[in-house]
Amino acid sequence: MHPPTLRPLLLAGAAALTLASPLFAAGETAPAFAEILKIDAHSHVFEDIPELNRLMRAVNVRTINICNNGTDGYLDTMHGIALEQYRRHPDLFPFEATFDLLRRDEPTYVQEVIAHLDRMFAQGAVGVKIWKEIGIDIKDRDGKFILPDDPRFDPIYAHIAKRGKVLHAHLAEPIDAWLPLDPESNHYHYYSANPEWHLYGKPEYPSHAAIIAARDNIMRKHPDLVVVGAHLGSLEHDLDGIAERLARYPNFAIEVSARTRNLTRHPAEKVRALFLKYPDRIMYGIDGSWKPYRLPTPPSEAQRQGYINRLRLQYQNDFDYYAGSGRLTYANREVEALNLPRAVLEQFYHRNAIRIFRLDKAWAGPAAAQ
Ligand SMILES: [Zn+2]
Repeated sequence: MHPPTLRPLLLAGAAALTLASPLFAAGETAPAFAEILKIDAHSHVFEDIPELNRLMRAVNVRTINICNNGTDGYLDTMHGIALEQYRRHPDLFPFEATFDLLRRDEPTYVQEVIAHLDRMFAQGAVGVKIWKEIGIDIKDRDGKFILPDDPRFDPIYAHIAKRGKVLHAHLAEPIDAWLPLDPESNHYHYYSANPEWHLYGKPEYPSHAAIIAARDNIMRKHPDLVVVGAHLGSLEHDLDGIAERLARYPNFAIEVSARTRNLTRHPAEKVRALFLKYPDRIMYGIDGSWKPYRLPTPPSEAQRQGYINRLRLQYQNDFDYYAGSGRLTYANREVEALNLPRAVLEQFYHRNAIRIFRLDKAWAGPAAAQ
């Protein structure tokens, strides 16, 4: 395992920061990677791996460990593992529940979902995840796609709001899902490998705009509900659209998981301006996924090690982008680092997540977390 040292790239840049950047207060230098607590607000760690736990503590990473999805048939399994991870390591793995979508047409559906969520809240769940299957996969009895603002979900959303928990929403997809495959796109490999989610030329599917409008409509109908938009709220191509929603919905926040690459494609000045305008509404995350329960055979040690190495690299590369200055290589491209001021970095990396998910309570363990 690597010690939590700063990479030479950032060290070299750090000395010049105070001169190069008017954003840093006089004398302020970029913090070291391990110095800043980094809450990965979008994580799926479904195995207790001592080496990973040690790495997280060494480089100062904590997670929001997310159960999804609601149609794969693993509902009890994944909640069981998330609960166990949280019981063993409450400082590392506060978790979000999700709910079943398979029984959605049954008359007792809503009561059952609410009872399930209450059981999860009683055991410490800090939020509830919903996924893109609502909007572009599940259908009603008439064969029409069910949108996220479907009235059947309103009592569930109202209950989450009443319990003071977060609705963490990955709804829609990157806009590229609705566009022709483009080798220059950040999402080219995903849609090449997962054609079922590539919706270009499939007019029967709801549009990106229709799903985003439905997501916004949840916030209009439930103004007390705290909604965290996963993956830049699926508006990774439209920073103005993100700012517009943050202005319009005071209980809306976003996280950057799996979309830092998209941020690097925008002018750094524009991305920085968004962070400076809404420093209390943007959270860090990477969306790394380790779900051995879905594999037909247990993963090998090499696979496990590969996963840990990828996570570590990602945390470091991301930090170089958000905290560093000057040019750096990110996802094989030369990009400009954001050079965020320390106060904004701390909000982004942990203060916002602590406030929004009430992590002080969650970290105290299941007994204190209800
Ligand atoms: Zn995810």
